[in-house]
Amino acid sequence: MKSGIHPKYQKTTISCACGNSIETGSTRQNLKVEICSSCHPFYTGVKKVVDSAGRIELFQRKYKREK
Ligand SMILES: [Zn+2]
Repeated sequence: MKSGIHPKYQKTTISCACGNSIETGSTRQNLKVEICSSCHPFYTGVKKVVDSAGRIELFQRKYKREK
């Protein structure tokens, strides 16, 4: 490898919004994710809605029935 042109590959921690953290290796430090394998409904089997960007609320507000 040519020296001086490669980013440093090091141990880092991915921290999830659910509080879980995963040790891995990366050229970046302190990675943050909104969902991981321990809180994603596909892995947990829990049928919950992942709505980190407020899309559902936007939809409900838009199509709210007016009386
Ligand atoms: Zn998570």
